[in-house]
Amino acid sequence: MSQIIVIGSSNTDMVVKAAQLPGPGETVLGGTFLMNSGGKGANQAMAAQRLQTGGGQVVFIAKVGNDVFGREAIQAFEKAGLDTRFILQDRQAPSGVALIGVDDEGENSIMVAPGANANLSAGEVSDALGEMPDAEWVMLQLEIPLDTVKSAIAECTRKGLKVVLNPAPAQRLDDEFLKNIHLIIPNETEAELLTGISITDTNTVREAASILHKKGVENVVITLGAKGAFLYNATTDLLVLAPMVEAIDTTAAGDVFCGALVVALSEGKSLADGAAFACQAAALSVARMGAQPSIPSREEVETAMG
Ligand code: ADP
Repeated sequence: MSQIIVIGSSNTDMVVKAAQLPGPGETVLGGTFLMNSGGKGANQAMAAQRLQTGGGQVVFIAKVGNDVFGREAIQAFEKAGLDTRFILQDRQAPSGVALIGVDDEGENSIMVAPGANANLSAGEVSDALGEMPDAEWVMLQLEIPLDTVKSAIAECTRKGLKVVLNPAPAQRLDDEFLKNIHLIIPNETEAELLTGISITDTNTVREAASILHKKGVENVVITLGAKGAFLYNATTDLLVLAPMVEAIDTTAAGDVFCGALVVALSEGKSLADGAAFACQAAALSVARMGAQPSIPSREEVETAMG
């Protein structure tokens, strides 16, 4: 039985890589087109599945459309070894789609049409959770309805699961939301929105992390892009540096980081060791194009760590 459940979005990513990102009213010619399965939930589930050892299956709870994109996504998940029993197919809404632009610096801009993701209900998630008595870790993001996330957190907490929240895309959350979180993994933008602290250096990142900790989150990890990640809990206050890589495409760097960190923690690693593993996995993914195709294998991460 798998110990890790991911509840979240699945999208088809349509990626155009060009010299620069277009501004409003602007057309940028040239570049290359790629189509991949993506979505924060799917990316994190795929990352956890690829990086874990021991042959377990990560369970992915999600909703796709009854269309070619949805069917292809499920096939890709099955091929990767995920448990897809709880991926629902919406009768009306199409599968989620993300239009992603990537420039020469690896910077991206993304528009998402959530489609079926927006119809994943609290009741459907609850039904799925009821069939997984042995899970220990659950990871969620904010690309499915907030009510669904909220009730899943409450239910998983009641069942004694460790809840990991990647509060992305950035949005305000009420404090009630943060009370029972075992681990929160925001990036700088998300941490700023949740705390009101503008993050400019180690002092301000520490201040933001301590605010989240005081709101009831046991462990806080704020990702800092090429600078790495800041870790904060009752006994840890630490900046973990990211390995230096040439950034080709930062899409899903945060997702690979989240998937890798949960795998490491589920294996009993400390927060610091887990974050070092996650930084290495994310750095390898940044050096390649695409979201899910850029997720490294366990062996690649371990080799790179030396
Ligand atoms: P998000 O992708 O959610 O915006 P970040 O940009 O903070 O999140 O990136 C998440 C993690 O990915 C970082 O903590 C870091 O470990 C890794 N990462 C991101 N960009 C780079 C980079 N240019 N070089 C090395 N690692 C990176």
